[in-house]
Amino acid sequence: MSQPSRTSFSSRRRTRRSETARHALLRGCWLALLVFVVSACNPYACATDARNAIYVGRLGQSVAPTDNLTAADSGRIFVGLNEWRGSLAQQNVDASVTVKGFAPAVSEIHVHEGTPASPGRLLWKTDHGYLVGDSVWNAYRDLFQGPASWADFWSALNEGRAYFEVHSPSGASVTGAMRQESVSAFSPACT
Ligand SMILES: [Zn+2]
Repeated sequence: MSQPSRTSFSSRRRTRRSETARHALLRGCWLALLVFVVSACNPYACATDARNAIYVGRLGQSVAPTDNLTAADSGRIFVGLNEWRGSLAQQNVDASVTVKGFAPAVSEIHVHEGTPASPGRLLWKTDHGYLVGDSVWNAYRDLFQGPASWADFWSALNEGRAYFEVHSPSGASVTGAMRQESVSAFSPACT
């Protein structure tokens, strides 16, 4: 009957201890993987915030009307700002203007800093849209491309320091003041 030597006993203990450590490591890995999978699949773990704002007005008016205009109303201006931040980051603009009676066609629409009486720099423009019949020109929803920064564009409108301008191919342009119809704070945007 030979007793295990002191050396082999302690080496066996070392082995057992390292196996325990390996198991703990493995458990840790599984736990990390589980947390990752659950957070990736969990529809309630929202990683994107969104906010938006709507501005309205009427061509030819230096003060935006307080009544709610529809696209059928002559001169009606609509500008919608949409912003996402977080795992999905994007800024875009929806715009529409009822040009019938003001312009036969549209070459560009602009949002400028200032007022029609005191024009400032160009904040946003697009020439990407289509005319419905001879009345409503709708911009396609383009990614915001300035020329100002999105932050300047957002705050100028939010603080009532911006107005709308529509240019026709002839070179003529018509302006209109805008008022804020709605604005939202950043809130989780999950579908
Ligand atoms: Zn302009």
